[in-house]
Amino acid sequence: MPYQQEYNVALQAVAHASKLCSQIQDQLLDTETLVKSDQSPVTIADFVSQALIIATLQEHFPDDAVIGEEDSSDLKHPHNAPLLETITQWVQKVHPHATSDDILRWLDLGRPTHAHQRFWTLDPIDGTKGFLAGRQYAVALALLHEGEIVVGVLGCPNLPGEGDQRGFLFGTFQGQPARQIPLHTDSPTTTITVHAPKALSQTRFCESVESGHSNHDHSAQIASRLGITAPPYRIDSQCKYSAVSRGDASIYLRLPTRKDYREKIWDHAAGVALVKAAGGRVTDVDGAPLDFTCGHTLENNRGVIATCGPIHDEVISAVQDVL
Ligand code: AMP
Ligand code: MG
Repeated sequence: MPYQQEYNVALQAVAHASKLCSQIQDQLLDTETLVKSDQSPVTIADFVSQALIIATLQEHFPDDAVIGEEDSSDLKHPHNAPLLETITQWVQKVHPHATSDDILRWLDLGRPTHAHQRFWTLDPIDGTKGFLAGRQYAVALALLHEGEIVVGVLGCPNLPGEGDQRGFLFGTFQGQPARQIPLHTDSPTTTITVHAPKALSQTRFCESVESGHSNHDHSAQIASRLGITAPPYRIDSQCKYSAVSRGDASIYLRLPTRKDYREKIWDHAAGVALVKAAGGRVTDVDGAPLDFTCGHTLENNRGVIATCGPIHDEVISAVQDVL
């Protein structure tokens, strides 16, 4: 089946990275976090996850490009040598022969210099603020081919499930259903689908915890127009796409906070593939399809709206009224 091998490799890479991130989250020191030039935080786990996943992709698909969120520039500063050493030790748990130079090289493979027809996009830790606060985060990997998302895999190491289950992988590849796979146990893989409520007023929507990433005032107005009374389900990262894909919520609103912000492809590609495979719809706030052919941003789109499907047009219309 086309893309089956890519899917299997992506699942394995995201599973390894998610498990290491989970261990690092339990024992992260304050000194193991840096602040990037855009003032956003980055931790050793972001670097471990990106290096590990790119190393695995390189091994299996050496000709493929990867667009990743991180690069090695901060780690090259001599004063960050102890951090690089710690990162190397973590990566060695999966790639025992990895050196610090390998880590720097793998990280920088995530910054291709020209456009590719086929490439992976990776957010090694989506929702780093959630990761740092002990909340939700996701490891997000997708393969794009001629503008189509042909593989999407999300690792959500903290996401709750039924009973006391916690931690799942989610994934799909071209033409296949969306699947949920327990991360930390041998419980079986299940096929997941969106939940379409009988009445719009009975739906629940999800959005960012961070009001700087999605406008909370606008979402409250949209919910009110749609007659939604349930409080917003605020959850970090692409776990929001997982939530819509398995019916925990029926709408994901990502509403622009600034005119000039363009969404990053690694913040959406894997999640979008998942929601679509689970039977949902995804567009921007104007109802236009997301265009993944513009490099590392969704240059032609503003915001993102994902729903279970049948209610999509009505949600877009409420969004248009408010924005
Ligand atoms: P979330 O956990 O859904 O709030 O999203 C986290 C992601 O938001 C990060 O990976 C950033 O790439 C992205 N981000 C940063 N600033 C903004 C912004 N102004 N609007 C939308 N997304 C943003
Ligand atoms: Mg992100």
